[in-house]
Amino acid sequence: QHFLARAKAHDDLGAFVDINEDVTLAQARAADAALAAGNSNAPLAGVPIAHKDLFVTKDFPTTAASKMLTGYQSPFDATMVTRLADAGCVTLGKLNMDEFAMGSANENSAIGKVLNPWDRTRVPGGSSGGSAAAIAARLVPGATGTDTGGSIRQPASFCGITGIKPTYGRASRYGMIAFASSLDQAGPMARTAEDCALMLSAMCGPDPDRDSTSLDTPAEDFTLRLHDSLAGLRIGIPEEFFGDGLATDVRAAIDGALKEYEKLGAKLVPISLPRTELSIPVYYIIAPAEASSNLSRFDGVKFGHRAKEYTDLLDMYKKTRAEGFGDEVKRRIIIGTYVLSHGYYDAYYLQAQKIRRMIADDFQSAFKECDVIAGPAAPTVAWALGGKSDPLANYLADIYTLPASLAGLPGMSVPAGFGEGGMPVGLQLIGNYFDEARLLNAAHQLQ
Ligand code: GLN
Repeated sequence: QHFLARAKAHDDLGAFVDINEDVTLAQARAADAALAAGNSNAPLAGVPIAHKDLFVTKDFPTTAASKMLTGYQSPFDATMVTRLADAGCVTLGKLNMDEFAMGSANENSAIGKVLNPWDRTRVPGGSSGGSAAAIAARLVPGATGTDTGGSIRQPASFCGITGIKPTYGRASRYGMIAFASSLDQAGPMARTAEDCALMLSAMCGPDPDRDSTSLDTPAEDFTLRLHDSLAGLRIGIPEEFFGDGLATDVRAAIDGALKEYEKLGAKLVPISLPRTELSIPVYYIIAPAEASSNLSRFDGVKFGHRAKEYTDLLDMYKKTRAEGFGDEVKRRIIIGTYVLSHGYYDAYYLQAQKIRRMIADDFQSAFKECDVIAGPAAPTVAWALGGKSDPLANYLADIYTLPASLAGLPGMSVPAGFGEGGMPVGLQLIGNYFDEARLLNAAHQLQ
């Protein structure tokens, strides 16, 4: 009731897209009864959380912040929703986001913008902007997010909270509306690394019958190594993450966090990720290519919106898609269709796939010299609402989050201090495959 009241009182932030008191209180009473009867060993019994509206839910509508899914009701829950419910979590509601998770400022939502609780004239980041803002404003202790190219790490950085994207394949994508399937990963967002570890322990694990890319690595208790010493930890500092594009205020906060690590006994090791800049064109070819295919299912036949007037089937598809999708989603579909089309496929899509492999290899070379990689999550602090209307300017700001996404590596953002205007700065930590526990350990020690 406390959190429901806070969520309602701060409705002007735009973080929640749906709240259903009856559903939430029924779940809370069930958790309470199980605890009172002494027959609950659910690790998160009664902990309120909320879900990014990209996860389908049978108790709440799911919109992906798109007009296209108006009126859509899923008959089932996403695996992430089921797993967290099984761990005892109570769902407060659904959270705002960029339409179909495409964006970095939450300004591509068809439902409305989200304000950054630290400064309401600024964006919360995206695409999991509702999740980040809700946690920062203490409307909910934890939330799910999704990260295709930074959508957990960048809003966590902009809102001064903690978020982790696990190794690709550790968290099931079943029931998470697909954007770019080879990149999409779910992860927790919360105040601290410890809270993220608790949630991630419930979220990870195989889901072989429902997600063909889910890995058979067993679930893990990610809290076990939180208190390990960092003495001797080798932290790789990629020179390409500290170049011209990095704002001086962000750099100062990151340098401060790195000094703390040295005090904790870690060693800073200079490394190179030479294809960092290429991750932008590579991602903005591969992600739209996959999106153009994934979003073909939204045609007015099965899900949500259908145009009212049309002459024939083709006209119905065309009008439905013209009305249902926002500008950024249309831009991605057009780019994706182009790069996959006959005559351009080799020059764009295939070339991008080759460079993606090289980017992954660069990380493996780097991990010969270090245990984790650290740098900024974003080149600047949160910018002003409406401040980046040029799509390309948004794409360029993803430079530090895209490399780990393309390589499928785990990455997180942890609060590291403050920059211009007193806005939070996030330190990004990137680990090798399955090294989430080490990332959470390093993040926890900084907190
Ligand atoms: N900003 C990136 C994009 O617009 C990342 C999105 C994401 O991770 N879902 O595609």
